[in-house]
Amino acid sequence: MLTIRKKYGIVLGTIFILSVIAFNLIMDKFFDKEFEDFIRNDMKDIYYISSKNLEDYIALNSIEKSSININDFDNKMIRFVIERVNTQGIFYDINGNIISTAITNEKVIDLNILKDLPPSFEEAKNNKTMLDIESKNGSILGKLSVPIYRNYNEQIGTLVLIKDYSDNYIRNINIKRLVNIIVLILFLAIFICIYFIASNIIKPIILLKNKLLEISTGTYPEKIENKSNDEIGVLIDSFNNMSERIKNKDEKEKSIFRNITHELKTPLTNISGYAQILNEDGFNDDEFKRNALNRIISESNRMHELVISLLDISKQSSDLKEYSFEAVNIKNIIEDLISIKYPKIIEKNLNIISKINKEIINGNKQYLTMLFSNLIDNGIKYSYENTDIKIETKEIEEYFQFSILTKGKRIPIEFKDKIFEPFVRVGEKGFSSKDSNGLGLYICKNIVLGHRGNIEVVLNNDKSKFIVNLPKD
Ligand code: ADP
Repeated sequence: MLTIRKKYGIVLGTIFILSVIAFNLIMDKFFDKEFEDFIRNDMKDIYYISSKNLEDYIALNSIEKSSININDFDNKMIRFVIERVNTQGIFYDINGNIISTAITNEKVIDLNILKDLPPSFEEAKNNKTMLDIESKNGSILGKLSVPIYRNYNEQIGTLVLIKDYSDNYIRNINIKRLVNIIVLILFLAIFICIYFIASNIIKPIILLKNKLLEISTGTYPEKIENKSNDEIGVLIDSFNNMSERIKNKDEKEKSIFRNITHELKTPLTNISGYAQILNEDGFNDDEFKRNALNRIISESNRMHELVISLLDISKQSSDLKEYSFEAVNIKNIIEDLISIKYPKIIEKNLNIISKINKEIINGNKQYLTMLFSNLIDNGIKYSYENTDIKIETKEIEEYFQFSILTKGKRIPIEFKDKIFEPFVRVGEKGFSSKDSNGLGLYICKNIVLGHRGNIEVVLNNDKSKFIVNLPKD
């Protein structure tokens, strides 16, 4: 697999090589152009100086300009002309035959080179002063062909001035190399820096990838230490939160599963224990038989209740996102529930004080009935005998509020939030846990969350007030 780091390295390396090549080409062009301009300007100066010298020579030797001829251009004259310009000078007749030569600079150029007529010689015939830059036998030569006229239109020959620029060229090449090396080092340094900066940016991403792989294999990694507050920092924080949530969810699911197994095992063990005794040969204790059958029935009911609750929960979790909402009359639901539960209310001699307004809210009727039924059931189940149960509904801004206040079983403060978790029960003398499985409030909480509301309990010694807020729309 091509990792991000390798991909990045390849891209960066390619950019680096291409940039170096491009830079070298540009530098070559630039230096060549500069060098050519340098020769051109130098040759221009040489041209002016030698022209001036020629004028002087003609004047000093009293040569008549109109009758000047090829024989006047002897070695002596050419030497005079090129005296101060450090070049070679060759005078050709119009057919390209050498008439005279002069060498002024210390470096003597191969005579064969001098014999070669430059391309500019032909151009010079057309009344043009032309420059050739030639590279011959490792030397760089500037050759300037100057046509010489009598009476402005009669060409008598061509003076070719040759200068060796090899030393300048070598100097030029050396500077070019130095610049190239400096730029190469600079480029390399920049690219190494970019690579390391990028590696540092990629590092947490690679770490995240490894941690995600761990999660996918079912292990929960340690939190990733977050040192930055940029996008990567946000990513790490989100990852840590996600990892924590998945871990909690996983643990919660495992614990629910353990609890379910435990809750089913206990009544099953009891039922099978009693059944075995009843099945023994010669067993004829009628009273034990009656008690045993009652236990078997009550344990079966408990199991039945548990299975119903579990079915509710599983149905609820798949329904939660697709609750079909409708206008629900809360007053009707609560009043119906109270009348259904009336026998139990009478049994404990409880006094229901209800203040229920005719509230219509947008919700799921079936689940809202389950919610209020659970809360009223708990109220009846955990109230002391001969006490009041206050049920109230009211409107608070865009919320509908339901509350049920009872006096009875004490809920310790540390259970305030816990009681909404599955299988959490508070044990207290005087209250049987026979028909209790610790799932009622968990179901209530899920229903409330499914309606985008909230549920809480306010505790005051043996008084508990369960409050539900539901959005009206
Ligand atoms: P269950 O009633 O089946 O035990 P719940 O989830 O409905 O399960 O309730 C969890 C625990 O919260 C109960 O065991 C009980 O201790 C406590 N509880 C619930 N409602 C009340 C109430 N109205 N008054 C006192 N305690 C309550």
